[in-house]
Amino acid sequence: MKQKCYKGLNFIPYIGSDRIQARVRELGGQITARYEGRNPLLICVLNGAAPFALDLFRAIDTDAEISFVRLSSYEGMESSGKVKQLLGLTEQIEGRDVIVVEDIIDTGRTMHKLLGDLGAMKPASLAVATLLFKPDALQCPDVAPDYVGFEIPVRFIIGYGLDIDGMARNLPDIYVLADEA
Ligand code: 5GP
Repeated sequence: MKQKCYKGLNFIPYIGSDRIQARVRELGGQITARYEGRNPLLICVLNGAAPFALDLFRAIDTDAEISFVRLSSYEGMESSGKVKQLLGLTEQIEGRDVIVVEDIIDTGRTMHKLLGDLGAMKPASLAVATLLFKPDALQCPDVAPDYVGFEIPVRFIIGYGLDIDGMARNLPDIYVLADEA
């Protein structure tokens, strides 16, 4: 893995695709064991969570469904603090076992809002899977992800779905902003 440059900023390798894929398989195994015979619905938060959600979905070895929503609060490299509305949910989730799939939980504001909106639709259960979790950045103590790929320090990350102004989502590996490494 080599250094990458976007918008004049240098990013260095942080988590390689082999490690990511191995961890996703572990999480898929845990979800399989817990939801066997219950047909859980994965709700993927676009755009960032798409690669993780699809890999996780394929790592689940029991009946499961997937749906895609949008809810974004991030512009550039700083959280705007504003959380937009939930868009695109077409499934009825009342009585379903729902697993929300996110790319990263930073302040937790996005997930807090999403859990409030989805919880009001009366799912049978509501769990959270996130590829990355920054516990030291969390500002919403009610947000406690059930499935975490990697806990990381408060750093700016790109790759495997995570972007910098729309770029870098297609990288199979995860990179960190060099100055902060
Ligand atoms: P939160 O509401 O938890 O502060 O932010 C969640 C959203 O912020 C994520 O879905 C993601 O889009 C964005 N985000 C948070 N941290 C990072 C990061 O280190 N890199 C990138 N590319 N996006 C991030």
